[in-house]
Amino acid sequence: MLKVDLHCHSNVSDGVLAPPAVAAYARKGGVDVWALTDHDEVGGIRAARAAAAELGMRFVAGVEISVTWANQTVHVVGLQLDENNRALIDGLAATRAGREARAREISAQLEQAGIPGAYEGALRYVANPDLVSRTHFARYLCELGICSTTSEVFRKYLTEGKPGYVPHRWATLSEAMGWIRGAGGIPVIAHPGRYKFDATAEGALFDEFRQLGGNTIEVVTGSHTPDQYATYAEIARRYGFLASRGTDFHAPGEARVEFAQLPPLPSSVTPVWHDWF
Ligand code: AMP
Ligand code: MN
Ligand code: MN
Ligand code: MN
Repeated sequence: MLKVDLHCHSNVSDGVLAPPAVAAYARKGGVDVWALTDHDEVGGIRAARAAAAELGMRFVAGVEISVTWANQTVHVVGLQLDENNRALIDGLAATRAGREARAREISAQLEQAGIPGAYEGALRYVANPDLVSRTHFARYLCELGICSTTSEVFRKYLTEGKPGYVPHRWATLSEAMGWIRGAGGIPVIAHPGRYKFDATAEGALFDEFRQLGGNTIEVVTGSHTPDQYATYAEIARRYGFLASRGTDFHAPGEARVEFAQLPPLPSSVTPVWHDWF
C-alpha cells in the first residue's frame, strides 16, 4: 500500500528543515507520496519537487492557507496545484503581508509580560523573512527556558487570553478556495478537530466549504487525537467528503507523530488520492 503524507512544513514557513531535507526525512519515514504544504507560501515547491524526484517519491504541490472564518482561524490545505499560478501567488503574498506588524505587536505584548527582545529572538529562527509565525516565537521562548516545549508555549502564551495574543484577520474561506481551485488544486479542511467550534458552527463550516466547491477534509493528521480519526472519518462519510492524511510535520523531535507512526486512513473513507495514479 502506498504511504501518503499530504501535510508537511519546511523552513519556508514554520518548519525547521529546508524543503530537500524534509523530503529526505519523509522518505526515511517510508513515505511514497509526499506533499509540501507550507503556510501561505509556495516558495519551497520547486526545490521540494526536485528532491522528491531524486528520492523516488511522488510529489504533490501544496500549500496551507490561513483563513478567518466566524472570527476563528481555520487552515485550508490546497493539493495538486500549479504553484506558478499568478492569482494564487498574489493572494498568498497579500495574506502574508500583515505578519511582520503582527510579530512586532506580539513582541510588544511579551515585553510587557517581562520577556524583552522576542521579535529579534524569533527572527533568528526565521528562514523566510516574509513569514514570521507564532511558532518562531515559541521556539525562542523554549530557547530562553521559559517553556520546555512549543506546545507548552501555546498553552501559556500566544493564544487567546494569554500574553502575546494578537487577533489577526487572514484570507476569507471564499478567497482561499478561489486561489486553490483557480490554480487547479483541491481544497482540504485541515485538522478539523482542532477548531473550537460547536457542532452547529462546524456543520456550517462544512456546508459553506461544500458550497464553495470543497469535498475533502483531513481525517488522519498529526494534529488529531486517535479518537478524532474516527470522529472525522464518520463526518467524511456523512458529508460524502474524501479524506486526506498527513503528519503536519514541522521539525524532528517537535512532531506529535513521526512519519513512520501515523496510522493509515480508516477503510470506511475514500482517500483524496484514490484517482491520482
Ligand atoms: P501563525 O500562523 O503564526 O498563527 O502560527 C500558527 C502555527 O503555530 C501553526 O501552524 C502551528 O504550527 C503552531 N501552533 C498553533 N497552535 C499550536 C499548539 N497548540 N501547539 C503547537 N503548535 C501550535
Ligand atoms: Mn505551523
Ligand atoms: Mn494548520
Ligand atoms: Mn500545518
